[in-house]
Amino acid sequence: MAKIAILMLGAPGSGKGTQAKFIMDTFNFIQLSTGDILRGLKKKPAESLTEAQKEAILTMDSGKLVSNALVSQLLADEIAVSGGEKVIFDGFPRNQAQISIFEELLKQNGFEVLIPVFLRVDDEILKGRMEARIAEMKALGQEPRADDIPETFAIRLATFHQETDPVIDHYASHANFIRLDALADTKREEVWSQLESQLTGMLAQ
Ligand code: AMP
Repeated sequence: MAKIAILMLGAPGSGKGTQAKFIMDTFNFIQLSTGDILRGLKKKPAESLTEAQKEAILTMDSGKLVSNALVSQLLADEIAVSGGEKVIFDGFPRNQAQISIFEELLKQNGFEVLIPVFLRVDDEILKGRMEARIAEMKALGQEPRADDIPETFAIRLATFHQETDPVIDHYASHANFIRLDALADTKREEVWSQLESQLTGMLAQ
């Protein structure tokens, strides 16, 4: 069977992680998220990190993008370790330079099918969601993610439009491109039901 890659595209807070989880549970995919891989560095003892990795942690917490070289290498290592046949890529490619790196990685690892999925959500809705998430965590006595605080979230959103909008434009003309629009009151289950039916059609081919 052909190796299949699903590429999740969308702003921070657009629900990529939630929809990826539905895909994993229903269609038996694994997920590789560059954000998760980078956050994994934070859990390692500082003395085991390289200078580049320490710098990446600071950059991540500031809401900007870490260097292409570092994140590409981390992703390449994860692909090799995972050995997955059906993989969801979340968080990469994130800028124009990463598109060719991504396509090369797909080729090298024998992925024949690519399905780009774009979750489109208005910025105002995203900001509201993030504020609600922070309030919820504080109510539970938990510490919000450093890059979720409003000032840093605004930087992440601006970085997304500047750096990642061109990536979405690039994949919008792909034959398998799926676009889902969420309004303020669209529930995650409604987005999933549309995505599931489109993916069912494509994965059955
Ligand atoms: P995410 O969880 O995908 O929002 O990623 C959290 C942070 O990790 C981002 O704000 C970036 O600082 C960094 N990051 C994740 N993926 C990439 C990437 N492909 N290129 C550069 N930086 C990334």
